[in-house]
Amino acid sequence: PSGLPPALEDEKRRVLKQAFGFDEFRPGQERVIDALLAGRDVLAVMPTGAGKSLCYQVPALVMGGLAIVVSPLIALMQDQVAGLLLDGVQAEAIHSAKSREENVASWRRVASGEAKLLYLAPERLMTERMLQALSRLPVSLIAIDEAHCVSQWGHSFRAEYLSLGKAREALPGARMVALTATADQTTQDDILQKLFDGRADAFVAGFDRPNISISVAEKRDVGQAIEAYVASRPGMSGVIYRISRKKVDETTARLQARGVKALAYHAGMDAADRAAAQETFLAEPGVVMVATVAFGMGIDKSDVRFVLHGDAPGSLEAYYQEIGRAGRDGEPAEALMFYGLEDIRTRRRFIDEQDSAPERKRMEAQRLDALVGFCETTACRRATLLAYFGETSKPCGNCDVCLDPPEVVDGTTEARLLLGLVAGTGERFGAAHVVALAVGHLSETVQARGHDKLREFGRGADRPAAEWRAILRQLVAAGALTVETGAYGGLTIPPKGRRILDGAERISIAKPKPKSRERRRMTAE
Ligand code: ADP
Ligand code: ZN
Repeated sequence: PSGLPPALEDEKRRVLKQAFGFDEFRPGQERVIDALLAGRDVLAVMPTGAGKSLCYQVPALVMGGLAIVVSPLIALMQDQVAGLLLDGVQAEAIHSAKSREENVASWRRVASGEAKLLYLAPERLMTERMLQALSRLPVSLIAIDEAHCVSQWGHSFRAEYLSLGKAREALPGARMVALTATADQTTQDDILQKLFDGRADAFVAGFDRPNISISVAEKRDVGQAIEAYVASRPGMSGVIYRISRKKVDETTARLQARGVKALAYHAGMDAADRAAAQETFLAEPGVVMVATVAFGMGIDKSDVRFVLHGDAPGSLEAYYQEIGRAGRDGEPAEALMFYGLEDIRTRRRFIDEQDSAPERKRMEAQRLDALVGFCETTACRRATLLAYFGETSKPCGNCDVCLDPPEVVDGTTEARLLLGLVAGTGERFGAAHVVALAVGHLSETVQARGHDKLREFGRGADRPAAEWRAILRQLVAAGALTVETGAYGGLTIPPKGRRILDGAERISIAKPKPKSRERRRMTAE
């Protein structure tokens, strides 16, 4: 029961059936549509593939008049308009990839009332001239797609989005709906504030994508690991995210040398090459796209079988968005992330070196901590991820933790050993050095600095280095050790670490799982 008058209710269903050929709304769609038809403004957060477009297209047709759709990408606009025209819905887009004549013709069809939807880039909508022209038309709805772009906390801020809140002053008769696939609580609040002055209904729907299996693995020789992963999935479409252009190029070359149909995509390439790569990825089967975060917005390819992160992503929000490109057809798909402390250090340095306000840096550092927490969690990955977006859920049965749960044990002794080494070496050395000291690896550096004289030196020789690294990462995730951003990524001891070191607090850890390969390597040394 929507609470809508029966006539509107009927009209809504008629439009769904007649214009779009669907019998039922998908979960989440109807709430958004009903709120808009009831005269409220809405922020809708729905996963990719959930059917966000219909959430404004149906109200647009039910309300009548003109709906303006703001979209950041020309390719997205073109897809949408083409789709609507196929459904027999008159829609137009005005943008810089069309000739002036074409744009003028489009505007005529908008001004005459023939077109029901008009797609525009934000900067074009917000010109004085456009707003004036539109204010003479019966604009009933403004839909803002990819609304996370308005938020500076989000992962793809666009300055052009900031002014969109003013569109409704110019067009006071219109309802406004903002749509996005990913926005955590901070981003949602920010969107609400910037676009709606805080006054809109927010709906967050079904973040879950149960067909994507989620795993996180330790990063060791990632080039080799990626190559082996892709080689064992011949003919599958996939996306591999790398942190830098250089790494994208390296990985692409390595895969190509193995005969994989791999293509590179990053902002350092010229626009035509990028477009060609994207086109091939969409059109041909079995292409592996190796890309930086520059790749992905608006990519709708249903049979992407894996999304692999060769480096840790910038935040869980970005991560969720990126893995959401896998398995849109609902068939099994995989998300695998390789992560190591060096990634966290790099990310932390990115944050430090940004020219931004301290408050913003603190916020981003917190988000990075959430990512580290996710990587080191001993609970279901999916539940951890969903919880970050405000959804509670049961263990999923389709992530590495669910499929092979770690044993949680008391790790206070191990933690104190590592913390003792960090303290004893003056909180200046990185993870590799500390782990070498734990296992008693006697190198020249160690001798030269007299670190072999430390009480804890070699006291962890009964465990392989890989296990010490795993424990060390957990200490970082638990906030008992901090990775500094300096050149050497030195570890320092925050208050929680001090308390553990002083015996005032205990800590639980996931019992490290011995990896047979690591074992052999260590004993061979
Ligand atoms: P999003 O923008 O959320 O990623 P889209 O709006 O592109 O998703 O919709 C994804 C797909 O789902 C499209 O092919 C669309 O036609 C289809 N779809 C949307 N709503 C429904 C519905 N109620 N019933 C069946 N299919 C739907
Ligand atoms: Zn799980």
